[in-house]
Amino acid sequence: AAPDSQPWIELEERFAAHNYHPLDVVLTRGEGPWVWDVQGKRYLDCLAAYSAVNQGHNHPRIVAALIEQAKILGLTSRAFRNDKFGPFCRKLSELSGYERVLMMNTGAEAVETAIKAARKWGYEVKGVPAGKAKILVCEGNFHGRTTTIVGFSTDPGARDNYGPFTPGFEVIPYGDLAAAKAAFDEHVVAVLVEPVQGEGGIIIPPADYLPGLRALCDEHQSLLLCDEIQSGLGRCGSMFAHSLAGVRADGVTIGKALSGGLYPVSAFLADAKVMDVFTPGSHGSTYGGNPLACAVADAALDVLVDEKLVERSAELGAWMKTELENIASPHIKELRGVGLWYGIELHPEAGGARRFCEALQREGMLCKETHEHTIRLAPPLVVERAELEWALARLTKVLGGN
Ligand code: PLP
Repeated sequence: AAPDSQPWIELEERFAAHNYHPLDVVLTRGEGPWVWDVQGKRYLDCLAAYSAVNQGHNHPRIVAALIEQAKILGLTSRAFRNDKFGPFCRKLSELSGYERVLMMNTGAEAVETAIKAARKWGYEVKGVPAGKAKILVCEGNFHGRTTTIVGFSTDPGARDNYGPFTPGFEVIPYGDLAAAKAAFDEHVVAVLVEPVQGEGGIIIPPADYLPGLRALCDEHQSLLLCDEIQSGLGRCGSMFAHSLAGVRADGVTIGKALSGGLYPVSAFLADAKVMDVFTPGSHGSTYGGNPLACAVADAALDVLVDEKLVERSAELGAWMKTELENIASPHIKELRGVGLWYGIELHPEAGGARRFCEALQREGMLCKETHEHTIRLAPPLVVERAELEWALARLTKVLGGN
């Protein structure tokens, strides 16, 4: 770290919990795909806050919506109605193609909502005997940090010493249809799956995987729940990543870019036949659906549509993939990518992805390793082609290509 970043780093180390291992860059300002540190050095943000900032940092339209609404009405709770909630739910419903919206705040809460919906639906609609509902989840999953969710994580770092855990989940290998088929029984109420595993390292399942899960869910009267919190809202070059596989999920979780990084907003989306299992008092959140969240998310969705960020992601993403494939580096083991989202997996001999992320930081580009050996690239979708060309030159230099 630059020497004059040290005061901020020391405060953080001394007074904050040590539950992250950030790169030693202290950011103070952002605009579009760029961020600046406290010394005034500029970086291209190639993480976009884990895809929460798809619309770019501080998008003026979203900032204006935030400020305007904050001046008028911030929070009513759902004890009362507010004039932003209904119109926003209609917009999200029309854009997503799902009849109903349930708003929460964080991604983990949206996933908890999906789990509750699936279980309640299982007991009340499918007729699963009390206490028997089972949800299939995938190896390498990342769905958030609550005790229920980490209970079915296969990452020891996320899970160890947080038990005892919520029962009712069975882990199946990701991408393996035969294993999924074998795990189905009459108590399976849902399969919960990331259409592309983000934290897992941008893992794209075989093309027949999601269609196969869809068919199994139909056959067994179970729900297909897709967690699109990181993969959705344009990241993969489609509004939803699972649509690329030609399937429609029964329930979808979204978050992150739903607010363009300016407020925590998440949602569970489903048709009435699933969502209507929720009745007054059966689920909720003090901040869920508040007018400020609705105003911010409304603007964030408008930006996504009006600036054609989904289309941009598909077009720029395909070009960028070819360019990345042309980087001749002895360190690259595999390149995976869809839309503007790439995992550059390095050989174990390269000594871990972190030192490359640190070298990229010195070059003015911010990336974060995922697991030990994968560099993840997920720039804001507003990034320009020339900016990506600039990034490619840095990547080529750091990865030792020509
Ligand atoms: N689901 C997926 C697929 C994610 O990538 C994440 C966050 O990275 C979450 C859920 C959790 O979201 P949050 O951190 O907002 O709780």
